[in-house]
Amino acid sequence: MFRTALGSRVHDENGRSYLDFFAGAGALNYGHNHPQLKSSLLLYLADDNIVHSLDKHTVAKRHFLEKFQEVVLSPRGLDYKIQFPGPTGTNAVEAALKLARKVTGRQTIVNFTNAFHGMTLGSLAVTGNSMKRNGAGVPLNHTVTMPYDNYLDGRTPDFLLFERLLEDSGSGIDRPAAVIVETVQGEGGLNPASAQWLRGLADLCRRHDILLIVDDVQMGCGRTGPFFSFEPAGITPDIVCLSKSLSGYGLPLALTLIRPDLDVWEPGEHNGTFRGFNPAFVTAAAALDFWTDERLQKETLEKGLQVRQALNLITAEHSDVITGVRGRGLAWGLVFNRPELAPRVCEAAFERGLLMETSGPEGEVAKLLPPLTTSDEELTEGLELLAESVQAVCE
Ligand code: PMP
Repeated sequence: MFRTALGSRVHDENGRSYLDFFAGAGALNYGHNHPQLKSSLLLYLADDNIVHSLDKHTVAKRHFLEKFQEVVLSPRGLDYKIQFPGPTGTNAVEAALKLARKVTGRQTIVNFTNAFHGMTLGSLAVTGNSMKRNGAGVPLNHTVTMPYDNYLDGRTPDFLLFERLLEDSGSGIDRPAAVIVETVQGEGGLNPASAQWLRGLADLCRRHDILLIVDDVQMGCGRTGPFFSFEPAGITPDIVCLSKSLSGYGLPLALTLIRPDLDVWEPGEHNGTFRGFNPAFVTAAAALDFWTDERLQKETLEKGLQVRQALNLITAEHSDVITGVRGRGLAWGLVFNRPELAPRVCEAAFERGLLMETSGPEGEVAKLLPPLTTSDEELTEGLELLAESVQAVCE
């Protein structure tokens, strides 16, 4: 059983140490119990500052909002209204989907093959994984699923076909309210969309007055390098969903960023009891100190290169079972040709002191999400443990 954790390491009750290359499924980009974030939290609690405030104004919330504007939005020339939709990623997605339907008066949401957006009904309806959708019992309505970038190995001009059907009144495809997309599909198997594909999608949305929602719950907050994963593509989504590493400390916090003219909510139309969790505002504000310069972004990209090179080497040695290396920034996957291999590699890694997970439609991808603050030595150590684990499973 795990007991303590610091940085990229967790320790069990017997004192055994594990390198954590799963990082709370992307919720711990700055590692466990980061000292600065911890002291901001302890100072806040020590002073009887307010913890739970629903949607009341608080000093902690105002400080976070001002800092988010100053450190994240203004330097990028982004103008969004900020909504606290509830504590988790799925709450941010639900708010985005509801708002898109309310603003446009249209029902359909376009999603993508292998997408993952959450486990509540709305976000599940736009999730591509049929195993997860089966949890809803009966089919979920008002969605159209399109092939994600490279899903068809470039065999079909993705958007042309959809655009043709949109323009054909006999096709039965109504103009959708919105398209929801991840720039890299985390749960879907570390599929990265190209900048060109994302720009094509954004253009299609603009031409047809369809809202573009980027779900940056897993790939945001620096996981792919820049704070927002869509930055390198040069697109500006109409709505952005953030959560996971937003609080920086593993505390629940989510945001829905809304193009100002789309904010048509009436008071009380979307709320939730834990949208005013002040300790998360406090650590989230402290975590923004990572973004006052470009150091973290640069280091993430450099470390990402190191991971990719190591995974390429492992692939070259086991090309009979590994079919590819996919990812971006510090989100990477090793794709196995048989679904049973990736969980066995994760088990072998666990035995050797490395925590990682599987993803992909059949769990065929061994997934690495080390904290962005992982040191070079720890990264090298973890990658060696992974190479040993693959060797042990494949020999
Ligand atoms: N969107 C994406 C892209 C995710 O990866 C996840 C969680 N894996 C969610 C939404 C849902 O977030 P949560 O589990 O916090 O509800």
